[in-house]
Amino acid sequence: MQAEDVMRILDADAMGFASLKPARIPKVVTYSKNVFIPLTNACRNACAYCGFRSDKPYIMREDEVLRILKAGAAKGCREALFTFGERPEVYPEIEKALSEMGYDSIIEYLYHLCEVSLKLGLLPHSNPGVIDEAEMRALREVNASMGLMLENASDRLCESGMPHEHSPGKRPRERLRMIECAGKLRIPFTTGLLIGIGETSDEIALSLMYLKKLSDRYGHIQEIIIQNFRPKKDTPMQYSREPSLFRMLKVVRASSELFPELAIQVPPNLNPSTYAIFLLHGASDLGGISPLTRDYINPEDAWPRVEEMRLLVRELGLTLSQRLPIYPKYIAKGWYSERVGEVISQYATEDGYARE
Ligand code: SF4
Repeated sequence: MQAEDVMRILDADAMGFASLKPARIPKVVTYSKNVFIPLTNACRNACAYCGFRSDKPYIMREDEVLRILKAGAAKGCREALFTFGERPEVYPEIEKALSEMGYDSIIEYLYHLCEVSLKLGLLPHSNPGVIDEAEMRALREVNASMGLMLENASDRLCESGMPHEHSPGKRPRERLRMIECAGKLRIPFTTGLLIGIGETSDEIALSLMYLKKLSDRYGHIQEIIIQNFRPKKDTPMQYSREPSLFRMLKVVRASSELFPELAIQVPPNLNPSTYAIFLLHGASDLGGISPLTRDYINPEDAWPRVEEMRLLVRELGLTLSQRLPIYPKYIAKGWYSERVGEVISQYATEDGYARE
């Protein structure tokens, strides 16, 4: 499939969309039962749509993280999702807090917390923002998978007046470099696009083609998240329009055709009344769902209950299965360290899903 074919889907009108060949419908729809740990809201970037970062930053202390991990383990969660602002040490108060705890960097602290998480039987999936190769190599030892949203590969979105103007970490070249590095290190990887931040169809197609090239070369991308922009109060983009359902459907459809072997994920909490429709158009994964913690990036959007998701998925004649943060294909390939493997062997079924 070429960029022109992707564009044909992205620019289709209703009749054109209706005339597409039937979408790939997954027999098994997956989700991961997790705890969401927003280690710090300090971030060197300032994306115009972000309601998470703060100039009065906090950092979670180990006892707070431990409480969440233990509660998650008791509720059968299998994933510890560590998501936080990029390079938060640019804030002196965060640097000082890390140093008081005995760490030189947030990545050192994260490494320790991933070790704790593994001891409690939760597989870490870290989203640390853009980091370097040595840091990725270290984190691979204690993570089942890692992630970084590409968001979009367009430099235009970093220009003056655009959403990534004040976000050095959102330069596409930086992010593509890290996604490539994950491939070289054989790290099962999650990435994706943020839709509705001012990008054009050309730029979506370009972004997908970049990911396709990396995926074909290294085989490490396990899922692609297609995330819809949601306006956040008191941000520069608070009055911007959300992408339409039709726009989202077309991006999901194009992605599923370009990446027939990969999971396409649509976050159900950001699409509470429509997520089942995406399953009819190529999505196959509903992401991390937590029985304990909220989505700290989108705190106003509560997770659906797993039982509700199960009923909806069953109505479509499909099966909902819990997965681990590492997809079955990478378990079969042995793309994990010995320490991570010990936890995987406790909780993976024979076909690589999660024991529920
Ligand atoms: S969206 Fe992520 S990278 Fe951008 S400012 Fe917020 S926390 Fe930082």
